[in-house]
Amino acid sequence: MAEINKAIRGTADVLPNDSYKWQFVEQKMLETASLFGFKEIRVPVIEHTEVFTKSVGDTTDVVQKEMYTFNDKGDRSITLRPELTAGTVRAAIEHGLLNDALPLKVCYIGSCYRYEKPQAGRYREFHQFGVECFGAAVPAADAEVISLASRVLSNIGIKNLSLEINSIGCPECRKNYHAALKEYFEGNKELLCDTCKDRLDRNPMRILDCKCPECKKVAENAPVVIDYLCDDCAAHFEGVKKHLDAANMKYTVNPKIVRGLDYYTRTVFEFISGDIGAQATVCGGGRYDGLVGQMGGPKTAALGFAMGIERLMLVLDAQKAEFAPAKSCDVYIAPMGEAASLAATSLCTLLREEGFMALTDISGRGLKAQMKYADKIGAAFSAVIGDNELETGKCNLKNMQTGDTVEVSIPDGLVGAVYEAKISVMLEGIENATENFSVK
Ligand code: ATP
Ligand code: MG
Repeated sequence: MAEINKAIRGTADVLPNDSYKWQFVEQKMLETASLFGFKEIRVPVIEHTEVFTKSVGDTTDVVQKEMYTFNDKGDRSITLRPELTAGTVRAAIEHGLLNDALPLKVCYIGSCYRYEKPQAGRYREFHQFGVECFGAAVPAADAEVISLASRVLSNIGIKNLSLEINSIGCPECRKNYHAALKEYFEGNKELLCDTCKDRLDRNPMRILDCKCPECKKVAENAPVVIDYLCDDCAAHFEGVKKHLDAANMKYTVNPKIVRGLDYYTRTVFEFISGDIGAQATVCGGGRYDGLVGQMGGPKTAALGFAMGIERLMLVLDAQKAEFAPAKSCDVYIAPMGEAASLAATSLCTLLREEGFMALTDISGRGLKAQMKYADKIGAAFSAVIGDNELETGKCNLKNMQTGDTVEVSIPDGLVGAVYEAKISVMLEGIENATENFSVK
């Protein structure tokens, strides 16, 4: 029997006391992307399975081992997206976005699903922030996208990352490379896992990112693709490095990076953290000039990256990063009695219209318990409203940190509109008091 009080293995809840961190990170991501001209796109969590098999590649680990694929009630094969590039390309083609003025620059934040062995930094549901840039063929584009990734990471406060780049060439230069790889792995065939034995004929490059320790060991001494680049790909890679220098980016060339998805061509890159153990790649990306055409769209040079938000959170925690604090209660209105409760409802309504976080009792608590609660949630100010306050139209606004109080006018909440003038007095009162007490 499935346990109904336990989240599915490899999935996690973001709890109310932590969600402000996610909000902070996601806001920085979208904000930074917009500085580079990227607009948000939202695509479905489910796609036809072929959207992924034809793009990510049917010899990749993702497609062969990790996809959540099922038949829906109409007997169509549906897959929960393992990444967002394929869906984004599908959407760009479907809506004719690639016929508009290029480059098309889009970004996204969304959940992804992969049936992997859950461990630190590796989950079955995780979240990616990513960007895709279409119609951008020259090295300046690679450098711009890589700088954007770097800027996002620094804007959310992440330190100590290294950038590793490589070029995996185009289908043309890969022919020779595949032949060399095949020859190398043929000689070590018995050491490979069954999946990789099968890959040997179909797509030997995929053996390079197999997770089996045995295959990894064999792959260590395999030929590297960068030695097989054609002139155009080599020139492109030199251009990328020059533009990265011009953008002030530090990087190392790591000839072993191939990335786990089939659609990549030429530039590939990763940002790696030294602070979170084995699952150290927080961002991966690259160019995929063939993908749009392969998926039935107009031939369009393109590139992008995706970062795993959970891994970024792990780095931020490990680095004890500071987040913009969560919004907390500006004022707690503590009513005593039925009439006061109605007044508190009106008051809170007005205060919220003015942009304050105003809270009042909705649990039917007595005054003492209410004040304890106001304290617990860290309310900046509080005001007790009882018969006396309703009668005089005035109440004491208490600074919860210092205990100081000021007398301010309150509206007769039951006929709020008539007392609008008084409301502004109260709001002013709060603002003045805020300044005086210098809490907010
Ligand atoms: P890995 O080699 O760690 O499996 P990958 O090459 O499969 O990564 P990509 O498909 O390039 O990863 O996805 C981009 C980013 O998404 C990764 O760099 C990582 O930060 C994050 N990511 C990928 N898979 C997971 C997962 N199962 N759980 C959490 N984050 C993930
Ligand atoms: Mg993976």
